[in-house]
Amino acid sequence: MLSFYPGPSKVHPEALEFIQEAFDQGIVSINHRSARFEALLKDTLEVLHAKWNIPANYTIYFVSSATEAWEIVAQSLIEKQSLHLYNGAFGKKWAHYTQQIYPQAQSISFDAQASLSSVELPSLAEIDTICLVQSETSNGTGQTISRSHYGESLIAVDATSSMGGIELPWKEADVWLASVQKCMGIPAGLGIMICSPKALARAEKLGRKSHYNDILLMEENRKRFQTHYTPNVLSIYVLNRLTHLLPNLSVIDAQTRKKMKIWEEFWHTNANWGLQCLIENPELRLPTVLALQGDPTQIQLILQTCLAADIELGKGYGDWQSNTVRIANFPSHTENDIHTLIKLLKHEL
Ligand SMILES: *Cc1c(COP(=O)(O)O)cnc(C)c1O
Repeated sequence: MLSFYPGPSKVHPEALEFIQEAFDQGIVSINHRSARFEALLKDTLEVLHAKWNIPANYTIYFVSSATEAWEIVAQSLIEKQSLHLYNGAFGKKWAHYTQQIYPQAQSISFDAQASLSSVELPSLAEIDTICLVQSETSNGTGQTISRSHYGESLIAVDATSSMGGIELPWKEADVWLASVQKCMGIPAGLGIMICSPKALARAEKLGRKSHYNDILLMEENRKRFQTHYTPNVLSIYVLNRLTHLLPNLSVIDAQTRKKMKIWEEFWHTNANWGLQCLIENPELRLPTVLALQGDPTQIQLILQTCLAADIELGKGYGDWQSNTVRIANFPSHTENDIHTLIKLLKHEL
């Protein structure tokens, strides 16, 4: 099975060897307060900083999922009121769950064809935290994140389906969150949060420590190269080995964009399936997830044709459930994989 689902997706084939290695070396049984774990975590944080070009004063934490990270933002960082800007299902869910904690949290939904920077903002006087989605996996939009629009607010960004696949402007936000089963090509069960000094200062100021996963407790553990809870050590190990193996994120970024060009070109010139890019403006398309729109019967046909050939595409999601199909373009997807799928698509209709 070759999976182009936008997460969980194709796992890097090298991961199998690393999982075997972790087993053989007893990594799968180590305690998260042991010296071996501390050495593993220290090295993993260092290699992520180096390969992903993360600013030295930003800190990295492992959590259980992106969804948990939404909640950590709410519980550790939002002071009184957040503002959520979204154009798809994931941003909407984030706003919804934050509103369960802070009923006064504001949200603005904008058109999927519009850019984040074009959204008209309310007065930010009462807003202390802005929650944005860089990679809206449900419709394949990718937004440019820039602090300049949001005054002094803390900025938290969901980059779940782009982190590890494209370069992100780390300094333009205070919290970046993701999980490993999307762009990182690792089996599900681990999330990542990357925080600025400003985010930590906010957590200090609030000093809540009212949940086991408060950022302050996460930071106390990180300083000792430990984690606040028993983490998915196997995934941390696989992420470590893969990050050492893969090139710098700037190189991966160029590869991702080159592969997306192959897709855009294919769908532009191939009218047989009657599908076109859901997002009209190429600048607003996420380089890591392509959403195609078409007649629901054609959507069903393409999903089934691929499944019959043991290739899985992503179904539509949320508002776009019946009339879109999504194709992941993650670093684990090689140009060869893309040509395998293109060959099938050319011959089956
Ligand atoms: C998949 C996804 C999530 C949720 O990730 P989990 O690992 O299930 O917590 C959140 N946001 C976006 C944009 C996603 O694509």
